This record gives sequence, C-alpha cells and structure tokens, in this order.
Amino acid sequence: MRTALVTGGGSGIGLAIAQRLEADGLQVATLDLNPSDRGFSRKADVSDRAQVDEALTEIREQLGPVTVLVNAAGMEGYKRFANLTFEAWQRVIDVNLNGVFHCVQAVLPDMVEAGWGRIVNISSSSAHSGQPFMTHYVAAKSAVNGLTKALALELGPQGITVNAVPPGFIDTPMLRRSEERQLLGGTVEEHIQRTPVRRVGRPEDIAAACAFLASEEAGYITGQILGVNGGRNT
Ligand code: NAP
Repeated sequence: MRTALVTGGGSGIGLAIAQRLEADGLQVATLDLNPSDRGFSRKADVSDRAQVDEALTEIREQLGPVTVLVNAAGMEGYKRFANLTFEAWQRVIDVNLNGVFHCVQAVLPDMVEAGWGRIVNISSSSAHSGQPFMTHYVAAKSAVNGLTKALALELGPQGITVNAVPPGFIDTPMLRRSEERQLLGGTVEEHIQRTPVRRVGRPEDIAAACAFLASEEAGYITGQILGVNGGRNT
C-alpha cells in the first residue's frame, strides 16, 4: 500500500485531499501547525526543516516510505506593498515556497529509491491573475508553479511526476477569513455570480484533481499547472 504525505492536512483543502487519498486506498500522513484528530497527523511547521525531518522519520517508521507528496500547507497575507515589512514578506515566502522546498527534499529519497513518485503542489489561481495587497503570496505561489515545471524535468527520468494545482475561490476557512475581513472585493455570494460554473469551489474539487495526479494512470502528466477554479481563470 502506498503512503502519502499531505501538508496542511488539518484544515480545508489539505484535509479534503487527505480524506480522498485515504478513500482511494492510500495510507495518509498529515503535517500541520494544528494537526487534526484524523489518522496519522503530526504537528510541524513546514518552514522548519528540522521539524519536517523529525516528522518524516516518524512517518517512515510507522507507515513506510512516502511516495506521494501533496504540498497544501499555506498562509495568506494582505498588506499594501508600500507598508509590507520584510519580516511579513519573508514569513509568507517561508511557508508557501520554502515549505515546498523542505518537504520535497525530505521526501525525495523515498521516491528515488522506489523509482516512482507523485508530487502535487497546491499553488494559487492568483499566480495567474495577480491579486492586490498580496504581492508576497502571489510571488510565492508563482514561484511554486515555476519550481513545479523545473523539478518535473529533473525528476521525470526517475519515475517521479511533479504537477501543480492552483485553486481558485474554494470554500475553506482561508476564504471565509478573507470574506470576513472584506478582502475579497465582494461577498462569496457576489463572486459566485461572476464565476462561470455559478458556484463556489469545494475542497473536494481540489482533492479530486490531486487524486488523479497522484494516481498510476497520470504517469504521462508532469510539469503541468492544472487550474481548478470554476472557469474564473482560463
Ligand atoms: P486553510 O483552511 O487555512 O488550510 C491551510 C492549512 O495549512 C491550515 O491547516 C494551516 O494550519 C496549515 N499551515 C499554515 N501554515 C503552516 C505551516 N507553516 N506549517 C504547516 N502547516 C501550515 O486554507 P485552504 O484554503 O485549505 O488552503 C490550502 C492551500 O490552498 C494553501 O496552500 C492555500 O494557499 C491554497 N489556496 C487556497 C485557495 C482558496 O480559495 N481557499 C485559493 C488559492 C490557493 P493553521 O490552520 O493551524 O494555520
């Protein structure tokens, strides 16, 4: 049985991905700042390599080598660029981009050894559209898309695929926090009217795309950015 690691698996999209991969028959471990009470869940900050490595040691001991990695941990930030401190910039880059670096490097030896692996990075549709007051977040998520493309070329010969799923407008605690703080440029309901499929996205929509990209049959798909956004970005 394959073992998957889902970061940010304590909430929202990451939680739905963990549940879906489990339903598909994988053993799933999750890492989060606030781990959930589901399955094998460990507390770790993805921007801290020592914490990631420590969690990986435990996961390998309990569940075996990890050959599926979904990087879903992320944090948003809103600040006018002129007022953005370097510390706030750095933290958003640390979690959203450097967290992917740490988790991929930590897991990679297992995939290389197996000659098989699936990496899916959750970026953001804002990397396509831009988003005011989120320069740090958009920069980090755009870099995740770039990392995905470059890494796919590097790891393809070793049987490892690397793809990104940029969600757009998915109903999670992150989206609702933004709505509450009036940072969405309208309510969720108003946005639904501007969304071609006329609904808000569900975490399960992202989980379905990840499950496909993590599957055996997606082996000829790598280096791709698969938008799941109800047609808001094409
Ligand atoms: P969410 O409900 O806030 O989930 C994000 C999860 O990541 C939370 O459990 C959070 O833990 C965890 N996390 C944050 N920083 C972490 C760190 N340093 N180390 C480990 N875990 C950390 O948000 P979501 O909407 O599901 O977001 C999931 C991913 O989708 C993120 O990468 C986000 O950027 C991306 N995304 C979401 C949308 C959307 O419409 N919802 C759109 C574009 C991209 P805590 O709750 O403890 O902080």
